[in-house]
Amino acid sequence: MQALVKASAAVGFVLTEVPEPRIRDDEVLIRVRRAGVCGTDVHIHEWDAWARGRCRPPFTVGHEFAGEVSEVGPLVTDVKVGDRVTAEGHIVCGRCHLCRTGNSHVCPNTRIIGVDRDGCFAEYIAMPGTNVWHLDDDISFDVGGIHDPMGNAFHTTLHGTEIPGATVLVTGCGPIGIFAVGIARAGGASRIIASDVNPKRLALASAMGAHDAVDPSAAEAAVRRATDGLGVDVVLEMSGVPSAIHQAFALVRVGGRVQLLGIPAKPLEVELAKEIIFKGITVYGVVGRRMYETWIQMTQFLRSGQFDPRPVITHRFPLEAHAEAIRVIKSGEAGKVIFEVA
Ligand code: NAD
Ligand code: ZN
Repeated sequence: MQALVKASAAVGFVLTEVPEPRIRDDEVLIRVRRAGVCGTDVHIHEWDAWARGRCRPPFTVGHEFAGEVSEVGPLVTDVKVGDRVTAEGHIVCGRCHLCRTGNSHVCPNTRIIGVDRDGCFAEYIAMPGTNVWHLDDDISFDVGGIHDPMGNAFHTTLHGTEIPGATVLVTGCGPIGIFAVGIARAGGASRIIASDVNPKRLALASAMGAHDAVDPSAAEAAVRRATDGLGVDVVLEMSGVPSAIHQAFALVRVGGRVQLLGIPAKPLEVELAKEIIFKGITVYGVVGRRMYETWIQMTQFLRSGQFDPRPVITHRFPLEAHAEAIRVIKSGEAGKVIFEVA
């Protein structure tokens, strides 16, 4: 089959023939139809310090996808050939302390498809049956293929927060931040302020329901205006940029909550007493998607019709155009970029 492969410890991907995956008894084989391209794939493509430390080429790249089940191992009970599915890309052990206390999103034995084992930028992928998530009939493969980053946004927006009526600041309107705007809107936030340095992305944030979409330099004034100087109830930090992280702590109200999803490139200094302790705020570190309450929330929000992620998808390419897909993401001109695999 055709697959987009990280072939060697160097910059780039290679589209090449690889053997079709063979499934184990507890796995299913999925014919990939759509696959989302993510910043992580760009890191692997560029072969940066993180990728060099984590990945062991050769392997097939890609971790966001949807498709049709084409083969089912004998131990898998509730997935059939022909089912329309997506999947949780974090494969966890199920046996450690975290997994056994309902926290498998932080399982220390997690292996990620397209990072630690073969991924989905290919005609077929093998997945453990436990990771498979069924799509409703009226959910397209396009939307199925972006459940992974949408799930990051659902987890960040809804875990431990009280969104109905809340004032919310979203710092960073990459695909995940823009999804979060739509989720906060569907969840009943009273005021959503979105910040980004990129006007195209601010326009997408507005389209997804942001009341104010502003440059970071205007975020403080927008928050003061919207909250009578109090600060927002919740900040969703979706950029990983140090100045935005400090802004998150500065613009959350006393006693509020900061959800950190964005990953800073290097260590950053935080004045704990002033920025966190004496404000009495709660800071939550987001890892992936909670298994599987985030997935249940995602399906129910999609069913409600209140949340529609489709405007976030701005570019689609065949696997052959992988270089162009990476270029578009790096340029910042895109919302979500997907591969039309079949
Ligand atoms: P992205 O890089 O497309 O989005 C980041 C956005 O932040 C960009 O639009 C950028 O213009 C904007 N930005 C830059 N400076 C800013 C500033 N000062 N204020 C506000 N916005 C600013 O990334 P994405 O794919 O949407 O992912 C968002 C972040 O989440 C990334 O840091 C990514 O690494 C991280 N991430 C974390 C997890 C997790 O499990 N914790 C999972 C996926 C992604
Ligand atoms: Zn575990």
